[in-house]
Amino acid sequence: MTAAKTLVCFTLFFFAHLTNAQSLTFTKDDTLRGSITPQRAWWDLTFYHLKVKVNPADKSISGSNEIQYTVLYPGNVLQIDLQPPLHLERAEQDGQILEATQQGRNAYFIALKKEQPKGSRQSLTVWYSGIPQAARNAPWDGGFSWEVEDAGQPFIATSCQGLGASVWWPCKDHAYDEPDSQAISVTVPNDLTDVSNGRLRRVTNNGDGTHTFDWFVANPINNYGVNVNIARYAHIADTFQGEKGLLSLDYYVLPQNLEKAKLQFQQVKLMLTAFEHWFGPYPFYEDGYKLVQVPYLGMEHQSSVTYGNRFMNGYLGRDLSGTGWGMKWDYIIVHESGHEWFANNITYRDIADMWIHEGFTNYSEALYTEYYFGKQAGTDYIKGLRGIIRNTSPIVGTHGVNSEGSPDMYPKGANLLHTIRQIVDDDEKWRSILRGLNRDFYHQTVYGTQVEDYITQHSGKKLQKVFDQYLRNSSIPILEYTIKKGRLKYHWVNCIDGFDMPVKVTLSPGKNEFIYPTTKWKSSRCKLPNKDDFQVEESFYVVARRL
Ligand SMILES: [Zn+2]
Repeated sequence: MTAAKTLVCFTLFFFAHLTNAQSLTFTKDDTLRGSITPQRAWWDLTFYHLKVKVNPADKSISGSNEIQYTVLYPGNVLQIDLQPPLHLERAEQDGQILEATQQGRNAYFIALKKEQPKGSRQSLTVWYSGIPQAARNAPWDGGFSWEVEDAGQPFIATSCQGLGASVWWPCKDHAYDEPDSQAISVTVPNDLTDVSNGRLRRVTNNGDGTHTFDWFVANPINNYGVNVNIARYAHIADTFQGEKGLLSLDYYVLPQNLEKAKLQFQQVKLMLTAFEHWFGPYPFYEDGYKLVQVPYLGMEHQSSVTYGNRFMNGYLGRDLSGTGWGMKWDYIIVHESGHEWFANNITYRDIADMWIHEGFTNYSEALYTEYYFGKQAGTDYIKGLRGIIRNTSPIVGTHGVNSEGSPDMYPKGANLLHTIRQIVDDDEKWRSILRGLNRDFYHQTVYGTQVEDYITQHSGKKLQKVFDQYLRNSSIPILEYTIKKGRLKYHWVNCIDGFDMPVKVTLSPGKNEFIYPTTKWKSSRCKLPNKDDFQVEESFYVVARRL
């Protein structure tokens, strides 16, 4: 997901949400949605076949979802999530109608009749229909976007992170469990095209004024990444020679934008080159890479990345970092595609750890800038983002209740990663850690602590207090210091107990070297002729205060 339109309004939206969250007591619906309930835990999702018919005329949808799973241990009640005003009509297993009882606002418990032996593979189908929630502020507050493009034709799309995929299709609406593959069949009027995730297998004319697009995703996919995009699309095909061979590139835009897209989307290959360098091969060669124009800003839908940045550089023509570097590239192409690695390849198990997605992807913008414009440009970009960090609440949210953390997860998450890179103090090792994360957590869902542990182990650095400080607290450490008679005295304040982050400072003219402050005063020799020349290396996201 992109950082919001004007960070101010975004932050207001989020802070409103956050202040509530801080003071909010979570509801039964939050727990049903956000936790691995007993009715979810006993079965392992393996496959979905979602079939949906979209009726632009009355903004209704109807369809079914075939759900295949493996039994981990015997259970007889299975939870499926679907949000009103959509309605679950029927559930069947092996031709037997099953009773589905609504739990709270958004969940159904389906009572199974058949025995579910451990290790057995089972399948169940549910049918549903209704008028789905219309998006109020896509992609941040999603649902179905029912728009009309400037040639007067329907321009329809889905977005649903946070709100949940169950806003438009019945599924196991928790991030921890993904299908190993998924089929998506979308029926639309004959004069429109549907573009969804993965590869198009066939188009079937139904002889009733509609046709059906059968898409197939050959890889695990997070449910908020599943999407439909419907319009009179024009298509551009291309290829990229990447680390895993030839990668197909497909772009779907409104016909009136074809020439602009041909120009602007040349940045896709630049992005793939830079990100394969930093993160390893694009994670979905089997499904290809796509950019699909939609009536909202953009979103990281796997192998169907959506685009609404009006074919211009920056973030709708502006640079969020204020340094000018953000105007050198298209924010949506770079940011949303960065999510193919951090969000779609490595996915949070709980939305409370959404920094795994947004912190790394915000950081990927700086790495893209560094790749093409040099290391200093990357550093300037990341420093520029500090202006939009609020530090009013922690980046990590509340687990088990579908509650994400502070929007600082973007710029502060990125600055945390850049700070850790300085502590690692070995750029090749740092790159191998970023590539290693994508190799060793390939197509997995993970907790934030697993990522923290991985970086700690592979860097060989003590980082626990660093992660605790920047992820679970909202104050920024202050390095308090004095310089007297050639001695630098220093300690950390405004931080958690035991905070012990090493930091690079100038102890002699033009030379940065590590000191190892703690919350207790320490001292080191300082050969600076002028105290004002003392500084902390700029890539560390800390504050320095001379007493
Ligand atoms: Zn994002």
